[in-house]
Amino acid sequence: MKISKEIQKFLLQDAMERFLRYVKIWTTSDIKSASFPSTENQLELGKLLSKELKDLELEDILHDKFGYVYANLPPSEGFEKVKPIGLIAHLDTSQAVSGKDVKPVIHENYDGSEILFSQNEELSLNIADSPQLSEYIGLDIITSQGDTLLGADNKAGIAEIMAASAAWKKFPELNHGPITICFTPDEEIGRGTRKIKKNLLPKNCYTLDGSEMGQLEIECFDAWGASIKFKGLNVHPGYAKNLMINAIHIASRFLSELPEAESPEHTEERVGFYHLMNLEGNEEKATATLILRDFDLKNNQNRMKYLETLKTLYELRYPGLKIELNFLHQYHNMLTFLEKEEKAIKLAKKAIDLAGLEVKIHSIRGGTDGTKLSEKGIPTPNIFAGGLLFHSRKEYIPTLALQKAAEVIIYLAEQWTNE
Ligand SMILES: [Zn+2]
Repeated sequence: MKISKEIQKFLLQDAMERFLRYVKIWTTSDIKSASFPSTENQLELGKLLSKELKDLELEDILHDKFGYVYANLPPSEGFEKVKPIGLIAHLDTSQAVSGKDVKPVIHENYDGSEILFSQNEELSLNIADSPQLSEYIGLDIITSQGDTLLGADNKAGIAEIMAASAAWKKFPELNHGPITICFTPDEEIGRGTRKIKKNLLPKNCYTLDGSEMGQLEIECFDAWGASIKFKGLNVHPGYAKNLMINAIHIASRFLSELPEAESPEHTEERVGFYHLMNLEGNEEKATATLILRDFDLKNNQNRMKYLETLKTLYELRYPGLKIELNFLHQYHNMLTFLEKEEKAIKLAKKAIDLAGLEVKIHSIRGGTDGTKLSEKGIPTPNIFAGGLLFHSRKEYIPTLALQKAAEVIIYLAEQWTNE
């Protein structure tokens, strides 16, 4: 089956309308919040999506108190025995930049020059910021007005899944097996799968949360949190000779031993890092909070060993000082789990190819909901949603990406019917 021009046109129009509607709903998540979902506003988008899913005649629609939205699309006639697949995207946007009162702007027929923002005169977007822009000359590009992020991460993914669902209803010739849709809250603060009802999801899922057109991600960081506690001794500074053990000062020396070349600001592609996120304390005690990231678990283990060695050295150098090191494994490189899932990956590659795009296998320098799901026994590769420079005021998406990702979803579902 080939997706006709008529269907392509429908997908572009439908996905775009939905996308422009969804980005206007404020859904920033909040890592400091103890509630679930972390912000009430995410429920508003979930409510709207539940209604739209109902209009598209999906079944078993559930919008639970945690903010998750689930829905099932029954298979086309004669495809009842096809293995079900799940499509996942997240409702929230990053705290890094305001997501309130997003006013999307469409820059028609992009000519390769600088894009300016009406609400931020100092801001501009050009090919130096994002080399992919040079491939998007002639396309329509959506940005914010420069005062907020756009929210293509991940409302593009939501719009694409919804547009594919709308196409399945309107064009019955598009064959598919059973499909489960799941929209998750709080992905950006790492809680996206914390309250997920695993039993409602099929054995194979895909997130639509990647970046540029054509991308398929089957690998992510192996991720650790590290906390280093320094316990010193305070004495009046005038009488402190040979007595004071200044915890925070020693902590700053200790942290300066971390290799500068292995920091987020000096690494890219497959190189991992130490990232100091917080240091607080006083003479008595100080605490440093770090994350360690690498594609290779061994490299992270070496970083932990290095911190252990520094602890030993510093306790020798400053008698009386106590250092406490704690490591927490946050998530695995999902390749560990996806390596065995040749079929799920092969079909995703095929679908991207059928949509007329070059397949770009990419490694995520972070994690997704799929990372945790893969760990929980639901292998979940990540397909592009089309947005670039996410978590930024310069975030943008070519409208063609909305159409192409929806096409990929339709081809993917069709590919599964042949298995
Ligand atoms: Zn995302």
